[in-house]
Amino acid sequence: MEQTLDTAPKVAEFLQGTKKMFINGEWVASISEQTFETKNPATGEVLATVYEAGEEDVNRAVEAAREAFDHGPWSKMSASERSRLIYKLADLMEENAEELAQLDTLDNGKPINETRNIDVPAAIEHFRYFAGWSTKIVGQTIPVNGPYFNYTRHEPVGVVGQIIPWNFPLLMAAWKLGAALATGCTVVLKPAEQTPLSALYLAKLIQEAGFPDGVVNIVQGFGPTTGEAIISHEKVNKIAFTGSTEVGKHIMRRAADTVKRVTLELGGKSPNIILPDADLTRAIPGALMGIMFNQGQVCCAGSRLFVQKKAYDNVVADLVSHSKSIKQGPGLNTSTQMGPLVSDKQQNRVMNYIQKGQEEGAEMLTGGSNPFDKGYFVEPTIFAAVEDDMTIAKEEIFGPVVAAMPFEDLDEVIERANNTTYGLAAGLWTENVRNAHYVANKLQAGTVWVNCYNVLDAASPFGGFKQSGSGREMGSYALDNYTEVKSVFINMK
Ligand code: ADP
Repeated sequence: MEQTLDTAPKVAEFLQGTKKMFINGEWVASISEQTFETKNPATGEVLATVYEAGEEDVNRAVEAAREAFDHGPWSKMSASERSRLIYKLADLMEENAEELAQLDTLDNGKPINETRNIDVPAAIEHFRYFAGWSTKIVGQTIPVNGPYFNYTRHEPVGVVGQIIPWNFPLLMAAWKLGAALATGCTVVLKPAEQTPLSALYLAKLIQEAGFPDGVVNIVQGFGPTTGEAIISHEKVNKIAFTGSTEVGKHIMRRAADTVKRVTLELGGKSPNIILPDADLTRAIPGALMGIMFNQGQVCCAGSRLFVQKKAYDNVVADLVSHSKSIKQGPGLNTSTQMGPLVSDKQQNRVMNYIQKGQEEGAEMLTGGSNPFDKGYFVEPTIFAAVEDDMTIAKEEIFGPVVAAMPFEDLDEVIERANNTTYGLAAGLWTENVRNAHYVANKLQAGTVWVNCYNVLDAASPFGGFKQSGSGREMGSYALDNYTEVKSVFINMK
């Protein structure tokens, strides 16, 4: 039954007043007292006002993180004590699951059914998974030449600056914090300016869980100011960033000044390939979910859909009819399947790509406008007659827009799928096990999904080939990004 939720009392209370930053275990206003507004993208109305962290605020946060790492209780705590705190945080998130879900729905626009059933449970699961790793980070004993006992220690890298995007606000914070806390690092985290609220609510829970002061600091603000102060701070040892490839490249260059460790999870233009032997009853809804999930604002979205020529017309016709049945509306409406995009800027960006697609000669079969008179909505949009060199087939749109393209044979589609500067993910639909392995091995992507799409798990690594990034998040692989390896020789003679 359709129902528009009333905001939970704790959420209504949380939205009151100017939201402070969380630095050194305290809630503080920015030194400049500068503020900015975050909007509800379903209506365009102001949702909350938050303080904007300037350079001096970032300095305070880095000093607090430095102190907690270099001299504070965090570095003296045992791995099992760290683990217990992370588990405690996950329990508190579970107690506040509805509040966290509503905040991300209000701030980002995504449907409440998704924040309740995907974002929040996945974030909780992520912390639990990494809480388990705290006590299992081990080195090696190595049989070296000479009278030496040699072993390695995997030590936390230090103070980590974490910069996250707006598409999965809480989940991205969890992806970043989980591995950092498990390995014993301390953190200065900047949420995206469009969606700062759930990270601040999470900070309340971090405080309640009893993490020592300075271990996690949250500074909200914009990229060129707050973000820039984090990435250029000489006392920050590592930057972990998720966002656009353009900003990722800039961060890599800036980090070179002090040889900071850098992990980047950047853009994508992921191919989703339907082979002639695919089960179309699964492939068609799978392809649609692969691009439309989260309003298409997913770095691994299957935005280039390759369909074998013989099935192409049927598949595209079915996609169009399925996409017309997607229910769009405000995220807090429980029957909404697709919410607004995050901001007017993002809506304009996507609309410009749609216009460009038409100008360059692609055929728009459905979608292309805002079905409502307010909010930042864009209809699910399907393009046919797309050529590989058109802008909509090459650039990341980050919206509900798919470019459908026919292909003839297997090796041709593999080559075309790989003909991109990106390499984050790829999808493949086939009932033939030989084709599944053959194509999965050949695709240049950090994740390949066969007969599924957008499947992610805290235990499995995620990250990009080529210009989609560097390093891996999640799974045991993520631990390598947050640890330095020290080799110790003991002379036994
Ligand atoms: P989008 O264009 O989708 O917002 P961005 O890559 O610009 O993606 O943003 C992702 C995150 O990076 C946000 O938290 C944003 O504030 C931050 N950011 C943007 N520019 C910079 C920068 N120059 N330095 C550090 N962080 C930045």
